[in-house]
Amino acid sequence: MSISKGKFISFEGIDGCGKSTQVKMLVNAMNNTERNTILVREPGGTIISEEIRQILLHRHISNISDRTEALLMTGSRAQLTYEVIMPKLINGQNVIADRFYDSTLAYQGGGRKLDLDWLIKLNHFATYDLEPDVTFLIDILPEEASKRKSKEGDRIERAGIELQTLVRDTYLELSIRFKERIVVIDGHDTIENIHSLIIEELKRKQIIQ
Ligand code: ADP
Repeated sequence: MSISKGKFISFEGIDGCGKSTQVKMLVNAMNNTERNTILVREPGGTIISEEIRQILLHRHISNISDRTEALLMTGSRAQLTYEVIMPKLINGQNVIADRFYDSTLAYQGGGRKLDLDWLIKLNHFATYDLEPDVTFLIDILPEEASKRKSKEGDRIERAGIELQTLVRDTYLELSIRFKERIVVIDGHDTIENIHSLIIEELKRKQIIQ
């Protein structure tokens, strides 16, 4: 669904792939010309969503069921979409998301083995059918990502290489299923090269000038 005048760009990939680094660089680049681009991160971004984030990423909670995790993630996303993303887009601002709904498909679908098609429906419900104009999947080997991350990860990051491998494989499957929307970028490249590739792709798709 396209409700908007602004553009909606999301970034995905396993923990440590370099998403946050690229998101910040892109927001800065887009705001260099016109100051009309905002950054949101998942889970979080509204008071309700940040409260949910605390539950999801809290180091001392280890017994969240897979379904609870999926519902909390999408609950956080629904509030973020309703309260922030849709109003900004309607207002003509661009929104860049550090994770959006492919994360649920990759982590809860691929990682936790919940039914992917059902999660896709849940996502549509949570996002009021809003989809990013383009999604950059920064693809990297889990071993390389793990080297980049500090030893003290949050609850999800500590789950290890095995989970990250399942998540990465699912992301790559999604990039085939949703090939019109998802652009795969090699995350092993340098920070500057990746940024340039992203800018090139956004120009090619006429999302930026
Ligand atoms: P994510 O948000 O995907 O978890 P970050 O952007 O926080 O990843 O990056 C994780 C770490 O890897 C950071 O220390 C960052 O500086 C570093 N990093 C990011 N991109 C690259 C890259 N292309 N090559 C080498 N190191 C990188």
